[in-house]
Amino acid sequence: MSPVTHFLASWMLANTAPLERRERAIVALSGLAPDIDGLGLAVDLATRGTAWETNWWGEYHHTLGHNLLFALVAGTIALAFARSHRLKSFALAVTAVHLHLLCDVGGGRGPEGYQWPIPYLWPFAAHPQWVWSGQWALDAWPNLLITGICILVTLRLAWSRGFSPVELVCLRWDRKVVETLRQRFPGRADP
Ligand SMILES: [Zn+2]
Repeated sequence: MSPVTHFLASWMLANTAPLERRERAIVALSGLAPDIDGLGLAVDLATRGTAWETNWWGEYHHTLGHNLLFALVAGTIALAFARSHRLKSFALAVTAVHLHLLCDVGGGRGPEGYQWPIPYLWPFAAHPQWVWSGQWALDAWPNLLITGICILVTLRLAWSRGFSPVELVCLRWDRKVVETLRQRFPGRADP
């Protein structure tokens, strides 16, 4: 799925516990982090046609960051950087990575039809690899629908709780977002 969908899904997950801003950021970014292994694409493009041509996208995407070990590393980073709710942050960061893996297995089929199997126990074992015969394409309608639902839920959470993912960038902008939502949709927000 797209990084935006992964981010919003893990943001929603972070909202299942009463975390603070810092810890919400850690959990939300943990759900995005597995796709770091796709950054090799930039190196492949830069070295294309040269004597040092690489295939890091093909070799490492859906391998380096898409496994149990990576989930535990993300959880450990959450544990180290969280200032409050540290165990919850650990558990939610590990869960966020797993949610990412499940979303990819469900809706991550590439345009060439490749299923990008998930080598869950990498680098300790090449198998099992997660694949699902019902997997849909990256640009298929279920992904659009899921992204739309994630956006609506995120807006609803912002209206109700008084913070949105914008808080990760700028608190003033975040207040503006919440204010605008509450003016547009008056009602009693949750305390
Ligand atoms: Zn992924």
